[in-house]
Amino acid sequence: AKRSGRGRTVEATLTLQMLHTRRNCLMEALRTATRDDSLTLVFQPIVSARSGRPEAYEALLRWRCAGMGPISPVEFIPLAEDSGQICAIGHWVLTQACQQASRWPADPDAGRPPPKVAVNTSLKQLLQADFAAEVRQALQQAGLPPQRLVIEVTESVFNEGDIDRVLATLLALRQSGVEVHVDDFGTGYSSLSRLREFPLTAVKVDKSFVLAGDERSLAVIEGTVLIARRFGLRVIAEGVETAEQAAALAALGVDELQGYHFGRPAPGGPLAAPAVSVSAP
Ligand code: C2E
Ligand code: CA
Ligand code: CA
Ligand code: CA
Repeated sequence: AKRSGRGRTVEATLTLQMLHTRRNCLMEALRTATRDDSLTLVFQPIVSARSGRPEAYEALLRWRCAGMGPISPVEFIPLAEDSGQICAIGHWVLTQACQQASRWPADPDAGRPPPKVAVNTSLKQLLQADFAAEVRQALQQAGLPPQRLVIEVTESVFNEGDIDRVLATLLALRQSGVEVHVDDFGTGYSSLSRLREFPLTAVKVDKSFVLAGDERSLAVIEGTVLIARRFGLRVIAEGVETAEQAAALAALGVDELQGYHFGRPAPGGPLAAPAVSVSAP
């Protein structure tokens, strides 16, 4: 049966209202999330393309909302950014990640420190006046050496109007010994020359290029490797799901690899049971 135009409008309005209600519910529940044990961190290995050893683990946030069950960070992080809650949540992530990483054991092979921990950081957090001090305090309280912390920032930092503020914060972080990686590289509209202007240590190529795997995407990765090398930066690729992808990326000169092929995000990081290579569909 054909629906009238009016019926469709009512339906569309209802759907919008439902989305609005969900959004408000989630925002309300997020207000207490850092205090009510509904947030947890999982950790995914980032391995050396040469040795296969974990160089770092990325902390990824998980939220089990009391009323609505598990909510993806893809949904709730943007909400938290809009509402300003991202700063409190980000602070929780930072302190938790540092504390957990401080308990990771050293590599059994002599002379290697435990893996680093990489923490996703929103531009909103970075623009706080005292972000670098917040990071130093989190490190100090956890007893974690600054060299073992990576701050991941997205390409959006390149386009922030208050560039002096961003640069000052990144510089302060680098001077404390913390690494700074640019995440999701290639998805924004920033120019490659930005890589030279910012005090970065590595570039993380967005997983969409790895997953697509077509000639154009490989060309983007190859170009990124060439430029990054010139500027003394390492290159990391994420979204590596197969041995073939891993081999191709290593051949292109990518330094570190992350993805389901090497391990899924899991509680405990290196303390979890050794990752079984995931080959089931
Ligand atoms: P991201 O930083 O780009 O994180 C990588 C995402 O790719 C993660 O999704 C991870 O689980 C997923 N992934 C890892 N390996 C593979 C693979 O082989 N194939 C595919 N298809 N995907 C893979 P997740 O955990 O759902 O996180 C999504 C996004 O949420 C993150 O993207 C990040 O932007 C944001 N996020 C997560 N935790 C935090 C946090 O603590 N703070 C902030 N600001 N953002 C966070
Ligand atoms: Ca990331
Ligand atoms: Ca990413
Ligand atoms: Ca992302």
